[in-house]
Amino acid sequence: MDKTSLLLYNNTMTTPWQEWKKKNAERQETGVVRPWDFANPDTEYATDDEQEYRYSVCQDCPHLTAAKTCTRCGCFMPAKTKLLYAECPIKKW
Ligand code: SF4
Repeated sequence: MDKTSLLLYNNTMTTPWQEWKKKNAERQETGVVRPWDFANPDTEYATDDEQEYRYSVCQDCPHLTAAKTCTRCGCFMPAKTKLLYAECPIKKW
């Protein structure tokens, strides 16, 4: 491969990891979050105050189980409430 082709190749090709990060960032903006978002270095997080507010709402909610999971979405709420684009499935927060 000549030098020009190599430069074009390097500027246009993306690795599977780069593609996954890009798609993951786009998906987060729709309110859909997944546990593996924590593995993505581009994931955005809620502030501590926002996370505490969200989790306090969950703690007063009948859908929160003793294991701290939500019966509506199945998520572990101390973690989900940290993800900036997470949403309560019944719009309590
Ligand atoms: S996410 Fe919503 S439905 Fe689930 S426990 Fe929290 S407040 Fe309740």
